[in-house]
Amino acid sequence: MLRIGLTGGMGAGKSTVARALVDLGAVLIDADAIAREVVAPGTPGLAALVEAFGEQILCADGSLDRPALAAVAFADDVSRGKLNAITHPLVGARTAELIGDAAADAIVVQDIPLLVENGLAPLMQLVVVVGAEEQTRLRRLVEHRGVDEADARARIAAQATDDQRRAVADVWLDNNGAPEVIKAQVRNLWEQRLVPFERNQRDGVRARAAYELVTDPEWDVQARRLIARLHLACGAAAVRIDHVGSTAVHGLPAKDIIDIQVTVPDLATAESLTGTLTAAGFPLAANVTHDNPKPGPDDPDGTDLDRWGKRLHGNADPGRPANIHLRVQDSPGQRFALDLRDWLRADDSARAEYLAVKRGAELAAAGLDVDAAGAAYYGVKEPWFDAVYPVVTQWARARA
Ligand code: ADP
Repeated sequence: MLRIGLTGGMGAGKSTVARALVDLGAVLIDADAIAREVVAPGTPGLAALVEAFGEQILCADGSLDRPALAAVAFADDVSRGKLNAITHPLVGARTAELIGDAAADAIVVQDIPLLVENGLAPLMQLVVVVGAEEQTRLRRLVEHRGVDEADARARIAAQATDDQRRAVADVWLDNNGAPEVIKAQVRNLWEQRLVPFERNQRDGVRARAAYELVTDPEWDVQARRLIARLHLACGAAAVRIDHVGSTAVHGLPAKDIIDIQVTVPDLATAESLTGTLTAAGFPLAANVTHDNPKPGPDDPDGTDLDRWGKRLHGNADPGRPANIHLRVQDSPGQRFALDLRDWLRADDSARAEYLAVKRGAELAAAGLDVDAAGAAYYGVKEPWFDAVYPVVTQWARARA
């Protein structure tokens, strides 16, 4: 099951996108609808609200009088806390129940207007944000939905800003254009990303990147989003989680694959995370059990595989290939990943030298099929890593 978060400012077109996704086969979980459902007439939720705030929050027909509730519940922080303490667990339980009911191969879309405000992005495997200019949103709300303009302005001002939404958006759907344009974007997203993402996750397949060097100013924020998800999935089992590799070094072209290092206390902990990470959309590369050993003071021949043990996971999302390296705290591989990154960040000539090696690797891999390309690429790159290993470790020691 794939869990997608859908959000956007009021009037941006969330419901429109949600409907298009349902037409394509998604299972929709509508946070607003659940929030209404758990306090419908006759529910324990409504009874609890009356108990807390009095009969004055009811309409004559016994249903919830929302403006009346808002007047008392938003009056101060204590009242607001009381309201949230009643409704949040009910909404959470109902949401979990609906997710539990979804089929194993479902693509579940959670429409959550306040996803950003409530910090829910890391819970989702992919966050889709619908965006439109404020003027356009106001016009649509007033013209199509009959909302009072001043009211719409006030509610938009109280929500998160588009910059805050951009920070969590794995996918930004621009809805300034015609309805057909957004529908085509949604279909494209569904076919190119969501369907293969779900299939990859179910089959335990990692998304791969071409052996071509590119640059992308978004790597940093994309890595931050992956790290937030991994922190949530790994919990206390992760000592630290870092963006490493070439995509963590500004101005260095790289294969379009983000390397993340999850530092764990030992390999048994790494193994205990296999199920959790796989379920979170980060499948295991079962054939990888260690990094290439490099000679060091404790292992002059560089043959001690155990010291270089690791687990490798990928990302099932075809739109964001990633290597998730689980390495043991203070092991040579764990240190080298951090030190190499910092050395490349600090040293212009090291960066230039590495880029030249990478260009050679890229050339060696060009035109080959994927397995042969991998072998050719690493055949050029790994010897350089072996060569700089002592330089980097010494540089790091001198700095410490
Ligand atoms: P949200 O759920 O984000 O508040 P909606 O999907 O309800 O937004 O869209 C707000 C209004 O604008 C609706 O009446 C919708 O039909 C209309 N709308 C959405 N997208 C477009 C579009 N691309 N062009 C014209 N009207 C649109």
